[in-house]
Amino acid sequence: MHHRISCPRCGSEKAMSPNSSCEWDEIHCSDCGEFLETRQAFDERHTHSFLIETCLKSRAMAREMGIRA
Ligand SMILES: [Zn+2]
Repeated sequence: MHHRISCPRCGSEKAMSPNSSCEWDEIHCSDCGEFLETRQAFDERHTHSFLIETCLKSRAMAREMGIRA
């Protein structure tokens, strides 16, 4: 499985984790092998930004409908 994380060691954006779906899997740089983070941390970061985005969108939608959020 590929991930888009830039490696702090070599700057590569080719990160990989095993093709299983365990959330504790480690994501490593595929160029230099540097450990980057666990898939769980990666997913949490993405879920978090998704939630903020959803929240902002619903507030904008509420404003459009004339509701003060
Ligand atoms: Zn690297």
